[in-house]
Amino acid sequence: MNKQTQLDQMAADIRTKNVCPDLATHATQLVMGDGNLNADIVIIGEAPGKKEDLEGVPFIGAAGKFLNEMLTAAHMDRSDVYITNIVKYRPPNNRDPSPKEKAEFWPYLVQQLDIIDPKIILTLGRHSMEYFLPGSKIGEVHGHPQPVTIDGRTRIVMPLYHPAAALYNGSLRQTLIDDFLQVPDIINQAKRL
Ligand code: URA
Repeated sequence: MNKQTQLDQMAADIRTKNVCPDLATHATQLVMGDGNLNADIVIIGEAPGKKEDLEGVPFIGAAGKFLNEMLTAAHMDRSDVYITNIVKYRPPNNRDPSPKEKAEFWPYLVQQLDIIDPKIILTLGRHSMEYFLPGSKIGEVHGHPQPVTIDGRTRIVMPLYHPAAALYNGSLRQTLIDDFLQVPDIINQAKRL
C-alpha cells in the first residue's frame, strides 16, 4: 500500500472509530496533514484553527504564514516537509485541546509517523512536545534536538515554540527564528546517523 493510501485508511479509521466525537460534531472536517509524504522532517502543531478547519489544510492562517517564512529563511519550503497536528479536528473557538483529546489522537499520530518515516520531528508548542518529551519545559528545551524512541523507532525530536505564540512577541519570535535556522544543520547531522 502506498503512503497516501495508508493515510487515507487512517483517516477512515478515525471517522469510523468516532475519535473525539464532540470535536468531530463541531468541526467542518478532519485535517490530516499537508506536504511531502517522503519528507525527512515532520512538523507537528497543536490543532487546526478556523481557516485550517474550513480548507482542510494545516497551518494556512497567520501562524502558517510565519511558518512558511521561517521555512524560506532556512532555504526550505512546504514541499520539503510534512505538516500535521496532534489533534486533527478544530476545537471549538480555538480552545486548547484537552488531555483526553490529545490522548485519543496520539496513537494516530504515532501511526502517521510510521507511515511518513521522517528522520526529524519538529514539535511546535507544548501540546505536541509533551507527548514526545514528557515533563520537559519548553522554555528550557526549545531548540535542543534529542533522540526519542517512539513505537520502537528512534527519531530526532526538536521542540520549538509555537509560531502563534511567537507571532506578536518580539523576543519569542526571534528565539523561534534562531532555533528554526538550525534545522538544516540538524537534518544534515541526522542524515549521517
Ligand atoms: N495552529 C496549529 O497548531 N495548527 C494549525 O494547523 C494551525 C494553527
